Amino acid sequence: MGAPEAFTHTQDIGHWIGGVPVRGTGSRKQTVWNPSTGAAARQVLLASIDDVNAAVAAARAAQPAWADMPPIRRARVMNNFLALMNQHRDTLAAMITAEHGKVFTDAQGEVSRGIDIVEFACGVPQLLKGDFTDQVSTGIDNWTLRQPLGVVAGVTPFNFPCMVPCWMFPVALACGNAFILKPSERDPSPSLLMAELLKQAGLPDGIFSVVQGDKVAVDALLTHPDVKALSFVGSTPIAQYIYETGAHHGKRVQALGGAKNHMVVMPDADLDQAVDALIGSAYGSAGERCMAISVAVLVGDVADRLVPMLAERARSLKIKNGMELDAEMGPIVTREARDRIEGYIGIGEAEGATLVVDGRGHTVTGHEEGFFTGGTLFDHVTPAMRIYKEEIFGPVLACVRVPDFAQALQLINDHEFGNGVALFTSDGGIAREFARRVQVGMVGVNVPIPVPMAWHGFGGWKKSLFGDMHAYGEEGVRFYTKQKSVMQRWPASIAKGAEFVMPTAK
Ligand code: NAD
Repeated sequence: MGAPEAFTHTQDIGHWIGGVPVRGTGSRKQTVWNPSTGAAARQVLLASIDDVNAAVAAARAAQPAWADMPPIRRARVMNNFLALMNQHRDTLAAMITAEHGKVFTDAQGEVSRGIDIVEFACGVPQLLKGDFTDQVSTGIDNWTLRQPLGVVAGVTPFNFPCMVPCWMFPVALACGNAFILKPSERDPSPSLLMAELLKQAGLPDGIFSVVQGDKVAVDALLTHPDVKALSFVGSTPIAQYIYETGAHHGKRVQALGGAKNHMVVMPDADLDQAVDALIGSAYGSAGERCMAISVAVLVGDVADRLVPMLAERARSLKIKNGMELDAEMGPIVTREARDRIEGYIGIGEAEGATLVVDGRGHTVTGHEEGFFTGGTLFDHVTPAMRIYKEEIFGPVLACVRVPDFAQALQLINDHEFGNGVALFTSDGGIAREFARRVQVGMVGVNVPIPVPMAWHGFGGWKKSLFGDMHAYGEEGVRFYTKQKSVMQRWPASIAKGAEFVMPTAK
């Protein structure tokens, strides 16, 4: 592959309402950075309450006709969108690298995983089929169908500006809803390209809108009576707030939160494979993935063999501007996030963990102002330490030593987060036991980042998800539709006279 074209636009980033780009009425703006250079790249306009109201009004006006359209025709719009997403994959990836910092090849992977959900949404008509029972009583049939909710919204995090919105809107739209996206204000550009592509695909105006912004926009969506459901992905404190506030305002809410993902390495594991898996999943995307591994649970004598191997690899990571194709790790999204991560390294040292590799103060030649930090490795971390308990969301891997499998399992089950987990072993019995007993939503056996495929659905347990339904897959279809039961008979079969007892099958 030749060098990809960098995304260098400098215009203000606005909203997309009623099928057109708009600047909105808000006067507030926020800087969007290029994390590799540390330069202020562009400004994003922050929506006012009026802007949100305009998006909801446009969605409400357009949604009934979209819901009335036969599902196969809605799916054809998704099919057109699928082709356009494939065509623009590299443009989207370059936008992601420019604003998030992750390496271009990883950004391409993100876009591909988003496209998977669009592909799934093309088949949603199959999942909208209802159930039918002939003759529930003499001359009476009963069936169920699923209908869209109306106007729904999604609020998404900075770390997957294409994939996470794609967990939501393709399924919501294919089910007949209108969707309003409030992307992260840190990397807002991909949302507008996707809005444009949806329009080109034939989506009617008003059915998909983007409101850029912060808490003001989110609160306006959360409290708006015409928004029937809200999907959220982000940190746990905000997920909990969204869940509680949305429920208080009578909305259906799914709110996916933060994580602290463990990977257990058993003494019988293939250690070279385990090291590759830990390095890729702890330091890939600079650890800014909700499925990143941030704790290695090393069983028995594994640590003495594994930690030196990890240290060597962590020290030699290729940390560069993500547009360089051999880069393994890019910068952190903002200076504040980098400082927070490096602050945690100081906390870990003060707590008494062994700092094996210290990533603080890492600079990249030619990018001295970029928000870089190196890969950090701690050993002898204990469950009482903050670096074990809290989500750092950066390239910091904590090794915890345990004597046996039972204690590894207990450690994970005692943690307040339960997003993803992995086990590396060559023992099928242990693997089975682990998958059955672990209190975590997504489990990998010899797979470090077990992000489920489009038709399986994504979701953690415990403080990693508030709500009852996972994102995308059949759970997504259920989330974005409500069930209706219809019971029917025709006049010729209606017996004369009122009935005062509970109807039973006759
Ligand atoms: P964040 O919680 O700061 O922001 C997420 C969204 O909420 C953004 O759109 C932001 O504008 C909005 N927001 C922020 N503060 C708000 C407030 N006070 N009121 C209302 N809205 C607010 O998260 P982030 O830093 O963008 O993303 C990183 C976090 O997301 C990590 O905790 C990570 O684990 C989590 N995450 C989880 C998953 C998952 O599937 N469970 C996936 C990706 C990211």
